[in-house]
Amino acid sequence: AVTLKNCSLSFGDVNVLNNVSIDIYKNEFVSILGPSGCGKSTLLRLMLDLLQPNAGGEIVYPSKDLSLGMVFQKPVLMPWLTAIQNISLPLTIGEKKFTKKEIKEKAESSLRLVGLQDFMNHFPHQLSGGMQQRIAIARALAADPTVLLMDEPFGALDEFTREKLNFELLRLWESSETSLSTVVMVTHSIQESVLLSNRVIMMSPRPAGVEDIISVPLPSPREIGMDELPAFHQ
Ligand code: ATP
Ligand code: MG
Repeated sequence: AVTLKNCSLSFGDVNVLNNVSIDIYKNEFVSILGPSGCGKSTLLRLMLDLLQPNAGGEIVYPSKDLSLGMVFQKPVLMPWLTAIQNISLPLTIGEKKFTKKEIKEKAESSLRLVGLQDFMNHFPHQLSGGMQQRIAIARALAADPTVLLMDEPFGALDEFTREKLNFELLRLWESSETSLSTVVMVTHSIQESVLLSNRVIMMSPRPAGVEDIISVPLPSPREIGMDELPAFHQ
């Protein structure tokens, strides 16, 4: 779905990525692990085209009908908009045109996915940090992306909510009700990466070079019998 070819990136004199090549394939769930400051968020920003490989290399998106959604490390919600308005915002300014009714339906179903349907008229400051993060996840999902990039999406959540959203995410990724086919998730939890993904990319401390990136294939959740576990419901 996304290919990084020999990408290098520096912030001023600081070389953060050094000749990194990564292929993310369609239908993959990839976790990215690595110590703080090694360049994981930078890598996701490259994939999203928010940053360019300013010291060489290129990013290739093989499929034309690819759309990317991103959940940032810190939830960036508009403080003057309610939860539902925050989720609707990308739908109103995106390339695809939706009717008011469609936007309302998409935003509401997205809010249900993260279990916050009762908080749709709350403003961000009236929600806890974890709830704000869930709103940010709902916002990324509302536009029905094919590729979802997530930067430590569950870091601020309690264990229970985290587990619930882990399963929700797996269900979304596996189901055919959404367009979502590929997930790239940065996490600090080895347990979470093994539970959710079928490949783990480990980055060494910066500058992470191609020789420092180890890619480990994992059995899919299905192969380890995760589909036999009970589904989570509210
Ligand atoms: P963490 O796990 O703490 O989130 P990370 O792996 O996501 O860390 P990045 O945020 O990608 O790390 O940062 C990698 C390096 O690039 C760090 O040394 C950081 O100081 C530097 N860096 C990131 N963004 C910028 C920027 N906009 N300007 C200058 N330096 C930056
Ligand atoms: Mg980061």
